[in-house]
Amino acid sequence: LNRRLAEFGTTIFAEMSALAVTTGAINLGQGFPDTDGPEEVREAAVRALRDGRGNQYPPGPGVPELRAAVADHQRRRYGLSYDPDTEVLVTAGATEAIAAALLALLEPGDEVVALEPYYDSYAACIAMAGGTRVPVTLRPHEGTFRLDLDELRDAVTDRTRLLLLNTPHNPTGTVLTRDELAAIAELAVERDLLVVTDEVYEHLVFDGAEHIPPASFPGMRERTVTIGSAGKTFSFTGWKVGWITAAPALVTAVRSAKQYLTYVASGPFQYAVAEALALPESYFAAYRRDMEAKRDLLATGLAEAGFGVFRPSGTYFVTTDIRPLGESDGFAFCRSLPERAGVVAVPNAVFYDHREAGAPFVRFAFCKQVPVLKEAVRRLGALA
Ligand code: PMP
Ligand code: GLN
Repeated sequence: LNRRLAEFGTTIFAEMSALAVTTGAINLGQGFPDTDGPEEVREAAVRALRDGRGNQYPPGPGVPELRAAVADHQRRRYGLSYDPDTEVLVTAGATEAIAAALLALLEPGDEVVALEPYYDSYAACIAMAGGTRVPVTLRPHEGTFRLDLDELRDAVTDRTRLLLLNTPHNPTGTVLTRDELAAIAELAVERDLLVVTDEVYEHLVFDGAEHIPPASFPGMRERTVTIGSAGKTFSFTGWKVGWITAAPALVTAVRSAKQYLTYVASGPFQYAVAEALALPESYFAAYRRDMEAKRDLLATGLAEAGFGVFRPSGTYFVTTDIRPLGESDGFAFCRSLPERAGVVAVPNAVFYDHREAGAPFVRFAFCKQVPVLKEAVRRLGALA
């Protein structure tokens, strides 16, 4: 393994899911739903397979139906208009979109400012691209994790090339507000930065919170690569269909990298996801309500079990503080939790460069069926 990757080892998700399998514990670690997405979308995939659509290499930028559906989704929901031919690119999940964007846009030595804790692939992809990550830590404040805009401004230097954003934010559940995003946009314009924004949880916002794409702020459209994924929005994490929307020059750049990573993404599923994106608003509303109820169930149960709970405004994760349980090391806690309580969780420290800042936090996923969550809560209740 080369020096760029040596520090990363096995992803925490693989490690913790393997632990769930060997111990038989309930897996609230890796974020994947235990219920597949809509029947009609699965049927659409079967039809595409059977009718021979996408069984051979699809077009490099993605099938036209899906590019049109992505553009339509961005217009309908956010009033952002993108040309399906020049401003949309289909990728092998958001993971490839992140990798291709960073590989395409960074020069060796460029600095990338990212909100810490961050999704684990960011650090690895910045490293593969030869960039340097500059974390800005979200700080616990009144039951949520908040961005300090002064810290963000101070993190930008002459070597900063790119801001890497994620809202709704994994693992904290923070949804950046309009005011925060306006300030971030001003900074990006003033310092002439590129922005890559991971919005895979765009449809999972709770308590009336609003997801606002950074690309919708003045001066941002031309400098922003926006990332979405069918894995999270339609509960098909195994399909690996994602996309970016961006100005033509940025799409062309990202595509240059993408064509040598995977060349193209899974053909038949692209047709099915095109149909999924056209589902009526009632699908998205029901999905959001369902997850919000599960959020309430798990957040309440964890609080009753003695955890400090950061009630998420978005995503399907809840971050907890284990110090009220008399614990301080999230790694040790997560490694022993399957044996102690029959539940698997993820230590937030893996998402930090400043490991000590993340040490007492542990993430639980609630994209699971209600009886599973209830049983997990019952088991965790025996901890205190
Ligand atoms: N970004 C974030 C913030 C995630 O949580 C995940 C996990 N799904 C991804 C990207 C990867 O998405 P995909 O499965 O579409 O590659
Ligand atoms: N995004 C999921 C999570 O945060 C996991 C995806 C993966 O395993 N790479 O848990």
